[in-house]
Formats: sequence, C-alpha cells, structure tokens
Amino acid sequence: MKFHMYLCRVCHRYTLKERHCGDESASAHPLKFSPQDKYAKYKVKENR
Ligand SMILES: [Zn+2]
Repeated sequence: MKFHMYLCRVCHRYTLKERHCGDESASAHPLKFSPQDKYAKYKVKENR
C-alpha cells in the first residue's frame, strides 16, 4: 500500500488525491513526515 501525500494549492490542505478543489495538487514531502519509516513499521507488524 502506497501513500502519497499531496498539498492542495487552492485550499492549502493535505490530501491523498491528485486533484483537489478542481485543481492539480502539489506533491507534498515535508521533512517531518517520513513515509519510509512508516512503511517499515507496517512491514514489521505484518511479519509478526
Ligand atoms: Zn483543496
């Protein structure tokens, strides 16, 4: 399962949709947010 966060350029809210508010959302990759760590966590959980 992949999570790709987008930042709506219209309402400035994070969304999982490529399009929001009828406009293309910008790809959001904040430094605080680490999808890789999250993914690793899920993997460990699933293996057990
Ligand atoms: Zn929006």
